[in-house]
Amino acid sequence: MGERRAAPPADAANGRPLRFAVIGAGMAGILSAIKLEEAGFRDFTVYEKAERVGGTWRENTYPGLSCDVPSHLYSYSFELNPEWSHRFSPGREIQAYFESVARKHGVEGRTRFGDEVARCEFSGGRWRLETKSGHRDDADVVIAATGVLHHPNLPDIPGLDDFEGALFHSARWDHAVALDGRRIGVVGTGSTAVQIVSALADRAAKLVMFQRTAQWIMPQENPPFSDEEKAEFRRRPETLRGLHQNLSALFTTFSNGVVDAGSDQMKMIEAACLANLENSVRDPVLREKLRPSYRAACKRLVISPDFYHAIQKPAAELETAGIERVEARGVRTRDGRLHELDVLVLATGFRPDRFIRPTEVIGRGGVRLADVWAKRPIAYLSISVPGFPNLFMLNGPNGPVGNFSLIEVAELQFAYILQLVDPLRSGRCREISPSLEATQRFEAERVEAAKHTIWATGCRSWYLDDRGVPSSWPFSFDRFRAEMAKPKLEAYELG
Ligand SMILES: Cc1cc2nc3c(=O)[nH]c(=O)nc-3n(C[C@H](O)[C@H](O)[C@H](O)COP(=O)(O)OP(=O)(O)OC[C@H]3O[C@@H](n4cnc5c(N)ncnc54)[C@H](O)[C@@H]3O)c2cc1C
Repeated sequence: MGERRAAPPADAANGRPLRFAVIGAGMAGILSAIKLEEAGFRDFTVYEKAERVGGTWRENTYPGLSCDVPSHLYSYSFELNPEWSHRFSPGREIQAYFESVARKHGVEGRTRFGDEVARCEFSGGRWRLETKSGHRDDADVVIAATGVLHHPNLPDIPGLDDFEGALFHSARWDHAVALDGRRIGVVGTGSTAVQIVSALADRAAKLVMFQRTAQWIMPQENPPFSDEEKAEFRRRPETLRGLHQNLSALFTTFSNGVVDAGSDQMKMIEAACLANLENSVRDPVLREKLRPSYRAACKRLVISPDFYHAIQKPAAELETAGIERVEARGVRTRDGRLHELDVLVLATGFRPDRFIRPTEVIGRGGVRLADVWAKRPIAYLSISVPGFPNLFMLNGPNGPVGNFSLIEVAELQFAYILQLVDPLRSGRCREISPSLEATQRFEAERVEAAKHTIWATGCRSWYLDDRGVPSSWPFSFDRFRAEMAKPKLEAYELG
């Protein structure tokens, strides 16, 4: 990645340069715009329904938000950042990073903000796009960079509407609501809930974490980078590059480990999480409440330097009785107790199976993506779908998600997509889509491999699909890299 590609010939087979529409201006949409430009494609528009770039990092602004892979890995490989403040930098810094990269590369000028793509139809060999404002556009290629953790998952708890305090999802934080000295409830125990509880334990008068499932907590310190270290990164870009590469290698080892539940990496992670629990939580009753009944990394591993410390603070309480309902004054648990609250935060995650939906996508012959995906979303190598030519997804179905950098994933995917575009650019074909046979073969292999991963070892998690099959990339990260290095064109239909 990173090197400039030769500009494409002025004319493709149809006598004009290819036109692209990129949907979404989060991390993956910004990447797409930069890489298209770098590859010599000038005719493209990015569509973003919000008013700013940033996606996840624009929408999530809750107290305590940080990335949970090291910042020097959670960076574009071509825009390493010597200024990261911490090993795991805060969300607002990440949002500022994406904004500055987008600005530097002129992405904002390429983006139509505040306009949601409502419909894309493949007709007459091109994609016809229509936005919510009624704007229409035609494109040869559509890049769907619409996000994976984007649509908030709202829990089905009776009485949510009855609550008279402030109530919001963690991705819709209401900053007008005061927090200091208030009684705050947090529903959920995932990475977000853990970050919020750690940030508020000293500020709230009372902080109740409503736990359905205990989580393993991987201890990770989060030291700041010193001025000297940052100066060194600025002075010697090769140090920064080395750091990025070393972290990438480390996380590759980790990702290779999660797909083999019996691997040494998994045993090491389990031991570290167990020692963290045993050594950090003094009260034996609380310790048992916090002890998960499944293996570490079966659910997305929660990384935290200070959660156990926070949950033992005087204002904090871990409630495990289960929520019966929400009432005007607070949350009633199944043991009949009413937790009176001023603020209730739903840290209940996202709907990770939505992808480009609810955008209506209509492929060849009038086939609707919503119908093809009615049971569950599938895609060949997580990028494209049979019958939907020249439509490519970043961070699409069954791709690698988990405790590693989705930026690295998207960069590898985009380099692959550019190679799929090559036959379009050269005029060898006008349409490219994966064959049904290759997609079904891949899917069967994926489902079989998923059974051997750590995610299939007996927990309930957002990785699991409606059948209980982990929906993440079940092969090693090395295999992902190898697959993305060069498309096997025999798996595609060129028309
Ligand atoms: C709280 C939180 C913490 C995370 N921490 C990490 C981490 O530490 N490491 C990591 O690798 N990943 C992390 N992730 C995952 C994170 O989502 C990805 O790293 C990355 O930001 C995804 O970028 P994206 O561009 O694919 O999607 P998004 O950031 O979701 O962006 C999608 C964009 O598309 C726009 N959009 C969607 N549909 C349309 C449409 N029809 N028309 C127009 N615009 C549209 C949206 O408005 C949005 O701006 C985290 C996610 C969350 C929620």
